[in-house]
Amino acid sequence: MSPEVLIIGGGVSGLATALSLASAGRCVGLVERGPVARESSWAGAGILSLLLPWHYPAPVRALAEHGRDLWPAWVERLRALTGLAADYRVSGMLVADGAEWAAAEAWGRAHARRVERPPAEWAARCALDRGGIWLPEVAQVRNPRLGRALESALRELGVTVMPHTRVIGLDIVADRVVALRTDRQALGCEQAVVCAGAWSQSLLGEHALGARVFPVRGQILLLAGPPGLLPGVVYRQGRYLVPRADGRVLVGSTLEEAGYDKSVTEAARADLLRFALDTCPRLAVCSVEGQWAGLRPGSPGNLPAIGRHPRLANLYINSGHFRYGLTMAPAAAELTADLMLGKIPCLDAAPYAWTVSPRPSPGAELDEV
Ligand SMILES: Cc1cc2nc3c(=O)[nH]c(=O)nc-3n(C[C@H](O)[C@H](O)[C@H](O)COP(=O)(O)OP(=O)(O)OC[C@H]3O[C@@H](n4cnc5c(N)ncnc54)[C@H](O)[C@@H]3O)c2cc1C
Repeated sequence: MSPEVLIIGGGVSGLATALSLASAGRCVGLVERGPVARESSWAGAGILSLLLPWHYPAPVRALAEHGRDLWPAWVERLRALTGLAADYRVSGMLVADGAEWAAAEAWGRAHARRVERPPAEWAARCALDRGGIWLPEVAQVRNPRLGRALESALRELGVTVMPHTRVIGLDIVADRVVALRTDRQALGCEQAVVCAGAWSQSLLGEHALGARVFPVRGQILLLAGPPGLLPGVVYRQGRYLVPRADGRVLVGSTLEEAGYDKSVTEAARADLLRFALDTCPRLAVCSVEGQWAGLRPGSPGNLPAIGRHPRLANLYINSGHFRYGLTMAPAAAELTADLMLGKIPCLDAAPYAWTVSPRPSPGAELDEV
């Protein structure tokens, strides 16, 4: 049976959208120009929270907080479908700057999240300013494992996954997309969803209208050492440390406007290493195991575009999640599917709507966190 819905892009946004639609009984195909989940969704750190949630405008928080609520059941479903664990783990997040305490407490009350003072002895392990803030419920996931679990779940649900197939254009008749042109063949569809990450706007060309999605490079350094050096994820001065259960520590990340260049740099390596050792001197026992870069799908104010094209009746977008595509994935996919299926949306969809002209930025700027 040929798919009714075609998803463009096999990162976490496309995979999650396909999962939601296939779970609702739609016949889905997913077109990915490379291997599945090897771009930003592979490169990210896997923290399942906004870094300083209280800094963000309400629509960004709403999507991230709903995503956080959905994550535990979402990974359980993936495990039930595939037997694969994405290494979802509640590890907590230590915000090193205690000056944020009042704002953090207010956010915690509003969203029913625990906000605590870290034990005093942690100051011997990490550089804490004014005591820091402990968010014990923050979880993390290992991106490559999540990608594998999602792809496998889609195959279990009968989704046609087409890797190494590049979409090169849309065939449009009147106000409808009738087919996707790819470098292999034309694929007919009833509905299509653009989930092409940092490439979404350039792929759409003149049809992008007000959707603004641009690449923002992020570099990460991977350290290897004994487990237990850090109490959890540590956030400090715009950077973070993410301890994996096996002792590896991700040090992230840069925010760079470098177009589509995914190279890594010596300057970022030195900078991230200095940050890691300043923040937690015990990491000096670790060795540097790797360094990589990914291209985030940047958007003004970190507000993704989710919804139907302003002029093409059967074209949708779910893209531009910028720094939080993993955190938001289950919620953004649910919202996209609700809109496509004509269901009552799980969240107010208005702030994310695909508009004819670019939306005004809702507040947070690129370098805020
Ligand atoms: C260094 C770094 C750290 C991060 N840390 C976190 C974090 O801790 N927590 C968090 O929530 N988020 C984090 N993110 C952000 C998160 O990774 C992204 O928001 C998310 O992965 C975006 O997913 P996506 O599916 O939209 O994009 P991508 O994963 O980039 O997927 C888009 C896909 O579309 C495909 N594609 C593009 N053009 C075409 C075409 N013409 N035809 C077919 N396919 C096409 C691409 O090949 C790609 O596979 C981080 C990102 C980076 C880079």
